[in-house]
Amino acid sequence: MNILLLGPPGGGKGTQAKRLMDKYGLIQLSTGDMLRAAVASGSEIGRKAKAVMDAGQLVSDDIVIGIIDDRLDQPDTKAGVIFDGFPRTLAQAESLDAMLSRKSRRLAHAIEVQVPDALLIERITGRFSCPKCGAGYHDKYQQTAKPGVCDSCGGHEFTRRADDTAETVTKRLAAYHAQTQPLLPYYQKKGILSVVDGAVEISEVTRALEAIVDGKKFG
Ligand code: AMP
Repeated sequence: MNILLLGPPGGGKGTQAKRLMDKYGLIQLSTGDMLRAAVASGSEIGRKAKAVMDAGQLVSDDIVIGIIDDRLDQPDTKAGVIFDGFPRTLAQAESLDAMLSRKSRRLAHAIEVQVPDALLIERITGRFSCPKCGAGYHDKYQQTAKPGVCDSCGGHEFTRRADDTAETVTKRLAAYHAQTQPLLPYYQKKGILSVVDGAVEISEVTRALEAIVDGKKFG
């Protein structure tokens, strides 16, 4: 089964994708994570993407479409994926449709995780993660059990994303509203769009998503 999570930056797509991945045996495909890995490796794609990402703008469609197309050719994605942060433009959505049909696959659900803008700035500027295992935390909403120690792997160092600043968040939100929100009617017309409230507690969002994936809730 292939699922797509839509929603604003800081809306919790990544956190929820990790939870769904564990429960349903799916692979999380986050173009943001892939681009950050490219930046860290110093590859040509990473060099092209870095300045755009730091400015809170969208990387060119060609780059992200190419990354996803290659990744979907790897055998571990055959059982199903959760698209997280892709597509973000109508051109990307149309390419994804063409790509999936070429590979004889389809999208089962496009799910919007809805969170009001006012909540997002605090959510984004407070988040940090463990570079060793990828576990995500928040200064206020999801602290480590022991201060300074990763719950998952015991790591002692944490990182913050270069683009998680109050200034850049505003630009990322503007890009979301202008370029990504038009995807909602696109998936609505296809009859695969569902909406969950992303402003509630993390586990409650997970339950709402599971109800959709398990076919217990429609619309
Ligand atoms: P994210 O981790 O999803 O918040 O993405 C971080 C940044 O990576 C975004 O602000 C964009 O600059 C870039 N990015 C990630 N995914 C895409 C995409 N599908 N299209 C264009 N740019 C993207």
